[in-house]
Amino acid sequence: MQANNPQANAQTAESGADFEKISADICVIGAGSGGLSVAAAAAAFGRSVVLIERHKMGGDCLNYGCVPSKALIASAKRAHIMRTSSAFGVAAVDPQVDPVAVHDHVKSVIGAIEPNDSVERFTGLGVRVILAAARFVDKSTVVAGEYRIKARRFVVATGSTPLVPPIPGLEHVPYFTNESIFDNRERLHNLIIIGGGPIGLELAQAFHRLGSRVTVFEAAKALGKDDPELSKIVLERLTAEGVNIHEGAKVEQVEGGLGRVRVQVAFGDQQEVYEGSHLLLAVGRKPNTSDMGLEAAGIRYDKRGIKVDSGLRTSNRRVFAIGDVIGGLQFTHVANYHAGIVIRRALFRLPAKVDTAIIPWCTFTDPELAHVGLSEADAKKKAGKINVLRWPYHENDRAQATRETVGHVKVVTDKKGRILGATIVGAEAGELIQMWSLAISQKMNIKAMTGWISPYPTLGEINKRAAYRYYATAPTSPIVRKIIGFLAKLG
Ligand SMILES: Cc1cc2nc3c(=O)[nH]c(=O)nc-3n(C[C@H](O)[C@H](O)[C@H](O)COP(=O)(O)OP(=O)(O)OC[C@H]3O[C@@H](n4cnc5c(N)ncnc54)[C@H](O)[C@@H]3O)c2cc1C
Repeated sequence: MQANNPQANAQTAESGADFEKISADICVIGAGSGGLSVAAAAAAFGRSVVLIERHKMGGDCLNYGCVPSKALIASAKRAHIMRTSSAFGVAAVDPQVDPVAVHDHVKSVIGAIEPNDSVERFTGLGVRVILAAARFVDKSTVVAGEYRIKARRFVVATGSTPLVPPIPGLEHVPYFTNESIFDNRERLHNLIIIGGGPIGLELAQAFHRLGSRVTVFEAAKALGKDDPELSKIVLERLTAEGVNIHEGAKVEQVEGGLGRVRVQVAFGDQQEVYEGSHLLLAVGRKPNTSDMGLEAAGIRYDKRGIKVDSGLRTSNRRVFAIGDVIGGLQFTHVANYHAGIVIRRALFRLPAKVDTAIIPWCTFTDPELAHVGLSEADAKKKAGKINVLRWPYHENDRAQATRETVGHVKVVTDKKGRILGATIVGAEAGELIQMWSLAISQKMNIKAMTGWISPYPTLGEINKRAAYRYYATAPTSPIVRKIIGFLAKLG
């Protein structure tokens, strides 16, 4: 199927090989977070754009990732609030969770956002959309469906798919991945999740709160990419709620059928067998590089993804690659950030480069876990002497009022007060981290983080109080420390 676009500056002509030829300024492959951003911006700047998508407009984020997972988490949070409201003077109830209605809620949230990413919207923006799988046939030509596209620049934004590990028996056992779990309409009585990363744990807590018994097996350390001081707090909370999390647990074999799954798990030399009703795989991502003719186009890649330089250019100078398909940090906001860099380079020849130090991320468990910049360990390696500033949620009046007192902010600066990194575990950590993202991207000093007024009572005050801790640790006179301590108390 192809959406016609009368405004596109594309020339078409029948070729002898039954392909309709199109030429454009930019050809984008993949209509997910990254591809859509490039296509919309390039069209807005008056370039002729071809956008090719082989499956669903919106890619992973809209259909199988961020949007459905956050909608499911929202359902789960409702159920949790109903169960835990008695401390607020409101009688707690055991909620009746209807898996079909939860499914419908998730789908309706996707439906509400879908028009933004639709063929109709992009056609209206002046983008020529082709719904077919794209494949390079040489260094400057892509074939998709009955079209042969030549472009001055190509952007590969084909994303990633769930990794299916080579566990014996898996080929005979039904399992969910992120591509099928949001279509589920059944009660998952006893869910086994393989993988204790952000995706595995977000879904573990959500399904547990929606009434499933949930067991997670993680071969290494759960949330292993985050600061253990803070990820520990998330793991403790999930465990306290009743999610069974096993670390150092290697699933070696799987067997069973519909509604009954058995997994054999090795804990070092010891082996144990667990039973569940359903299985979900969340063990990582595989870049979408196959069947794309990357060799024909001279684009280098390996199992981690397409190789790019710091300006996101591939080994074929005509081709950029962005988002999940290049590996590294795989998030929607990263794909969008990459899109901005490609637009600056490809359209305006500006020397834009990726700066991974300013990229934040957040795991949307409850409590949330958010990070930006260097970890404490990396900051020590890079800056030598550092300051570590902390402030707990329980010292914040708003957190007390809402009984969300678990968690803290941890900020790392160099000796002169330059902010190097921040990690937050607690309520709304994904919102609170943004101030530190701004600070790090603008190379701000910690002093700036004490020089603003925070409306009372808000969780944001936690950030300011953490910043004031710099003076408590800085080599300054006791009297100055006393004055600053007094100011900090005023907020
Ligand atoms: C369960 C889950 C939850 C997540 N939650 C978050 C979150 O809360 N926040 C966050 O920032 N990130 C989250 N992510 C990650 C986020 O979804 C991805 O990082 C993001 O979608 C990557 O965007 P992309 O443009 O690189 O790829 P995608 O969005 O995957 O888009 C790639 C598109 O390319 C198409 N395609 C592939 N090959 C071809 C081809 N040959 N021809 C034509 N089209 C092709 C695909 O069909 C797809 O539509 C989550 C991911 C998962 C799985």
